[in-house]
Amino acid sequence: MTRTFYYWDAVSLEHDTGAHVECIERSERLRPEKMRKLVPELDARPIEVHNARDWILKLHLPDYHDFVEKTCENGGGLLDHGDTVTSPRSYDAALASVNAALTAADAVMTGEADHAVSVLRPPGHHALPDCAMGFCLFGNVAILARYLQERHGLSKIAIVDWDVHHGNGTQHFFYSDPDVFFVSLHQYPLWPGTGRSHERGEGPGEGATLNLPIAPFTTETDFLSKFETVVLPAVTDFRPEFLIVSAGYDAHRDDPLAQLQLTEDGFIKMTQWLKGVAGDVCDGRLISCLEGGYNLDALQNSVAAHTRTLMTS
Ligand SMILES: [Zn+2]
Repeated sequence: MTRTFYYWDAVSLEHDTGAHVECIERSERLRPEKMRKLVPELDARPIEVHNARDWILKLHLPDYHDFVEKTCENGGGLLDHGDTVTSPRSYDAALASVNAALTAADAVMTGEADHAVSVLRPPGHHALPDCAMGFCLFGNVAILARYLQERHGLSKIAIVDWDVHHGNGTQHFFYSDPDVFFVSLHQYPLWPGTGRSHERGEGPGEGATLNLPIAPFTTETDFLSKFETVVLPAVTDFRPEFLIVSAGYDAHRDDPLAQLQLTEDGFIKMTQWLKGVAGDVCDGRLISCLEGGYNLDALQNSVAAHTRTLMTS
């Protein structure tokens, strides 16, 4: 069995978005005590890194960071585009989301863990340098990539985003960066409307962004075929030193926000493949961070399937 650490923290339960799809109940379902019914060997770990603010400021503008902090101090409310709800503790929850990813990075880089799964909320892949967007406050996986480079001396990082929405925020941060390979599979057309196949990066980063728009109602077989024949060779050829998964589960057939047709088996297959690529090119180093996934049963079962697959030798 490979060592896969699982990160969850009760502060996610205080990111109270009320009657919103990106809700507290998502965190409740992913609580280790509940997940152990599905993954008995689950290895839940505490968050140990606590300087998220410094790392957030490497990618986000100080004014934006301060705006989020102040909005929450003042009781919360809607941010920027109006689809991102905050409560008084949302800023702390957002710091914890980043800290969990950084803690996971340390665990994998020191060899304590082979893989790690972070399921804290809020998610991050839509957040932009100067604004919140799509239920995301700070770009968790983008910050994680920078942390791996600057703290752990890595150079080449690959980020695979299988959330059903285009990871526009992550793409933005690395669009002209040749060292961070960003791959997104997403339903298209669908909000946020970016992620067409001709978006391939720019300048020195040209070719280091790969977008795979997928039509609504595409079958699981066709989706997985694209993953196997396009994503896997591209990631392998890039030869990253670390693999990050922006793991949303809203491409599940039961999800209310989109029309793709994945099942738990699809998430298992993608996890097996990426784990294989990580084993081939970067000593198995792989971390996934939760993004979307709004059918609670599908979310819980898919996260369990993904985690179990990483744990299996
Ligand atoms: Zn999504």
